[in-house]
Amino acid sequence: MPQFWVEPMNIILLGPPGAGKGTQATRLVERYGMRQLSTGDMLRAAVKAETPTGLKVKAIMEAGELVSDEIVSALISDELEALSPQTGVIFDGYPRTAEQAHSLDDILAKHRRKLDRVVELAVDEDALVERITGRFTCAKCGEGYHDVHKLPRSAGVCDKCGNGEFKRRPDDTEETVRTRMAEYRAKTAPILPIYEGRGIVERVDGMADIDEVSASIETVLGLGS
Ligand code: AMP
Repeated sequence: MPQFWVEPMNIILLGPPGAGKGTQATRLVERYGMRQLSTGDMLRAAVKAETPTGLKVKAIMEAGELVSDEIVSALISDELEALSPQTGVIFDGYPRTAEQAHSLDDILAKHRRKLDRVVELAVDEDALVERITGRFTCAKCGEGYHDVHKLPRSAGVCDKCGNGEFKRRPDDTEETVRTRMAEYRAKTAPILPIYEGRGIVERVDGMADIDEVSASIETVLGLGS
């Protein structure tokens, strides 16, 4: 596993739904051996497995609203508990409220980790609606596609693994996307000043080409060549 820094980094990727947090986190995982902690992915797994948490949050997620701070902070805390202190972490989709930001401070302190950077992906909201409502993934390997921007090279066949089944997130409809954006504006964007006060926020243009966004993120994190 490549190791480009002495201390493992802990970073937050912040931005509205569809800003590319998941895509960029996946790249950091592949290139730098970091670990992606996505509360959205954890919650979707809980819904799929019909765990008590999953049953509780299903309708909330489908409406595009935020699930309770206690639930997501507990998920993050459990994951960090199980993680080697040598592994850097990318928080993707967490924290999303001031309450969660404070919980994250406590959780990190408990694990003797420090928050190195908050990378804000700056994006145009109207373009995001088109980006989100057109996206779908391979049901087997999770490779991401888009109705307009990235169809599989051979119709109906995943470029990466050859599988023929694809899926869409149930909350990727226009109405739900608008609710998710409103939640972001009302509850998540206001946490930025907390981190700005600590001098750790870096802004990156999230509307650029995916590779350019990755390069900008690597630059602000001091990674790569
Ligand atoms: P995401 O995959 O990050 O877009 O999250 C999908 C949905 O999961 C959100 O619309 C929320 O309903 C829920 N969710 C994910 N992360 C959080 C969080 N940190 N706080 C509250 N709700 C969350």
